[in-house]
Amino acid sequence: MNRQLLVISIGPVQSFIAAARKTEDLWSGSHLLSHLARKAIEFLFQKGEEQHRQVEMVYPAVTEDELKKSAPVTERDAASLPNRFVALITGEAGEVAELARETKEAVRKELIDLCRGAINHVFSIKPEDKPLYQQMYQQAERQVDSSLEFFWALEKLPDDRSFEEARSKVERRLAAVKNNRTYPPHGQNGLICTICGERDALCNEKLDDNDPIGKLRQKLEKTWKKRKGSFLKYEGEQEGEGRIQDGEYLCALCLCKRASRELFGKKPFPSVLEIAQDEKYYAILMMDGDDMGKWVSGEKRPDRNDEEDAPGHAMTQLDTYREISRRLSRFAKQTVPQIVQEYEGELVYAGGDDVLAFAPVKNVLSLARELRKAFSDPKRGLDRKATASMGIIIAYCKDPLYRMLNRVRSLEKKAKSFRREDGTSKDAFALAYLARSGEQREVVLPWLVDPQNPGEWTVSHLNYLIDSIKSEVSSTFLFTFSQSFLPLLPREANQEEGKLAVFGKDDPRNEELLEVELKRLLRRALKESDQSAKAESLAKSLVILHRLVPASFQFIQLMEILRILGVKKHEGASAKAG
Ligand SMILES: [Zn+2]
Repeated sequence: MNRQLLVISIGPVQSFIAAARKTEDLWSGSHLLSHLARKAIEFLFQKGEEQHRQVEMVYPAVTEDELKKSAPVTERDAASLPNRFVALITGEAGEVAELARETKEAVRKELIDLCRGAINHVFSIKPEDKPLYQQMYQQAERQVDSSLEFFWALEKLPDDRSFEEARSKVERRLAAVKNNRTYPPHGQNGLICTICGERDALCNEKLDDNDPIGKLRQKLEKTWKKRKGSFLKYEGEQEGEGRIQDGEYLCALCLCKRASRELFGKKPFPSVLEIAQDEKYYAILMMDGDDMGKWVSGEKRPDRNDEEDAPGHAMTQLDTYREISRRLSRFAKQTVPQIVQEYEGELVYAGGDDVLAFAPVKNVLSLARELRKAFSDPKRGLDRKATASMGIIIAYCKDPLYRMLNRVRSLEKKAKSFRREDGTSKDAFALAYLARSGEQREVVLPWLVDPQNPGEWTVSHLNYLIDSIKSEVSSTFLFTFSQSFLPLLPREANQEEGKLAVFGKDDPRNEELLEVELKRLLRRALKESDQSAKAESLAKSLVILHRLVPASFQFIQLMEILRILGVKKHEGASAKAG
């Protein structure tokens, strides 16, 4: 029987996630996408049963049973299904294409239902009053039609050995479909949504093309004054939470996100203040596996264990892909949530190698290291040879969330472009601290001190230094050091490039000089006297870090970050940093 490889992608990711103003919007945007993916996969399985065709989810690796068992039952599960998936379905191309079109319709209906549910909930609409709200329901439906991105492509799979050829063909086809998409007009005739700025705000009053802007605003106000319960802000006996502020007018999709916790029956996602745990700073972490294209295409292959190596078990391309998919799904569904919870973080999404999480500042470096470690553990992650890059930002609670999200994304890219002197690249993290005052510190470091020695983690040196600053070293040491070190830096072309070169480039005496100076200052800065052994080991850690940073200027930035992290209350630290 013929088999077709079907790839589906659901969006728009950008407007579901990137426009988030609050952690809850961010969580609900990715949760909503994951929910729609679940609907699509459930629909494919269900139709497969009805039509007696085999449906295999190749990526993410999930069976019908597992999908049912993993039905969101926890109080607040993270989005765990990627918005892009690959299925293998028996049948002729025309039949599977029809199935794809039906799936699209099922997803569209689901999103419309969710939007209607959100309207009913926010405005407390009784069943008998629904006819009075037709205008908003219709507006929501039009907005779903003009916003939902459901793309699919398929390709015949003649046999398991030609999987890679079929897969790359179908991916190219999907990319072409995305490029040629047409945007149905949003049909703007009212005022724009105050959250996304893309679609019209929902309005239940009749709008006229000639309405002046003041009139439009009055009509919107009239609609939005009718919101109920926790969405309204009011004072008095029972204070309203104000989950929609006065003057906030939302489109159907943004409303759907705001009401997600009720629609999906979840506990609210904590705010950045709650995540920060009594501090004024919190951290965001974004991870992405390195060379995923090579893993997926079979150019990189996972190590095989003994049973698979038994004769007669030659793995086909499809087998390899299934195995990678299985490991990535396990990483996203089990490993990541466990680790994030262990370090008191909050997971927004984990889809394969992609992870987005929030964490208290004190735990973020250890959390990051454990995620990276687990990724190259074949029992919990992808493979011994697998590496990953990460962006980590330490941000002030009141700075706009969407800006921090953009920043952490660009940090992740910087980590990806990290290069060691020996030419190896990626497998790094970019760490930035954004002070309340607007000052910024940024450094890119590899995960491992030596790529040949998987036991020595850069983060362990950072933690050692931070702990020492907390207890034994006067934090002014780092400041004094910066003052005496800065004048020595190469500053010919660009002061941000190059390493310390008092004795000329690559002369080992540069490092010796650095170590001597560090030890001298550390001995003075250690709170207990006579701790030369301690001074020596701290200086050693710092020299190693200096060796790893791409430029000495970044080393100064790193010292500043260490000083800030080593001071217990980060509020105080930022004040001193000025
Ligand atoms: Zn909106």
